[in-house]
Amino acid sequence: MTSPTPPADALLVEAVLPLRRPHRSGASEVRDHRVLLLRLTARGAEGWGECGPIPGYSRETLEECRAWLRSSLAAGGAAAGGGPPSARHALEAARADLAAAAAGRPLWRHLGGSRPRVAVGAVLGLGIALPGLPAAAEALAAEGYRRIKLKVAPGRSVDRVRAVRDALPHHDLAVDANGKFDPADPAEAAALDRFGLSFIEQPFAAGDLGAHARLAAAIDTPVCLDESIASPEDAVRALAAGAAGALNLKPARMGGLAAAAAAHDVAVAAGVPVWCGGMLESGVGKAAALALASLPGMTLPADLPPSSRHYADDLTAVPWLMVDGHLALPEVPGAGAAPDPAALERHTVSVESFSGT
Ligand code: MG
Repeated sequence: MTSPTPPADALLVEAVLPLRRPHRSGASEVRDHRVLLLRLTARGAEGWGECGPIPGYSRETLEECRAWLRSSLAAGGAAAGGGPPSARHALEAARADLAAAAAGRPLWRHLGGSRPRVAVGAVLGLGIALPGLPAAAEALAAEGYRRIKLKVAPGRSVDRVRAVRDALPHHDLAVDANGKFDPADPAEAAALDRFGLSFIEQPFAAGDLGAHARLAAAIDTPVCLDESIASPEDAVRALAAGAAGALNLKPARMGGLAAAAAAHDVAVAAGVPVWCGGMLESGVGKAAALALASLPGMTLPADLPPSSRHYADDLTAVPWLMVDGHLALPEVPGAGAAPDPAALERHTVSVESFSGT
């Protein structure tokens, strides 16, 4: 990812987007998703980036992202190392969008993407009680989602997966435990092996590669790592340990598109499939994640659903629509997902401007 040579002016916008349904992460429940949008402009071109840490899930807060972006922009865009990963992703994505726009190329082609449309999956959280879960999964399958991923937790996995598998015998199903299973008691995770899942995501804590490697050796279902992978070096270590048969690469968690793309290359070289997870991105941030998801090794569906899944009033002028279970990448210069000015104004909380970054 190269930075544009001309100095850019920057706008930092905080927006609050009401979610269509509450999003739960651990003990936190989010009803409105707060994001920072960064616009860089230079020589008539513009680039957008976004970060929106999820309370209860992300390690960083929105205020930490704001402070780091402010200091980086005030210092002429000379972003130092460190800084919250999602904020670094926002700055890098805005620069990549600007560079691609200035070069007259779609962002996804600029990044080396090879697929003009990306298959997408949807996630069903633990907030949905078991009796309603099969119908909810069937509805998503009928909408066209290519994979349905169930959030699971100790004592709330086998019954939930069995119920959905009975309802959808042939659909692509997966589970995500967000690290909640106890490595001293791997029997429940192993019991999921019989349901033909595409993967079991992050059964154990992020730092416990050994537990993941032992489970991976004991079952046929691929173990997918998400929270364990915060850098390309993490991907190297995880694959060397035999801890993963798939990787969920999120640029907002990895500190940017370049780091996620480097981890993608590591996985491709090892023959391990990768995919891109979602973090409640607005239509603006989704464009960068989708560009990453168009890389050749991103062979599993992305958890980057159409705008309507999370937002009744998304920021982009053209909502992301799902056709035949896929989102199409725009064939226009840049990311092709600048916010609609009126929609942005409806959701804006604050605006700061910086010049000559
Ligand atoms: Mg996950």
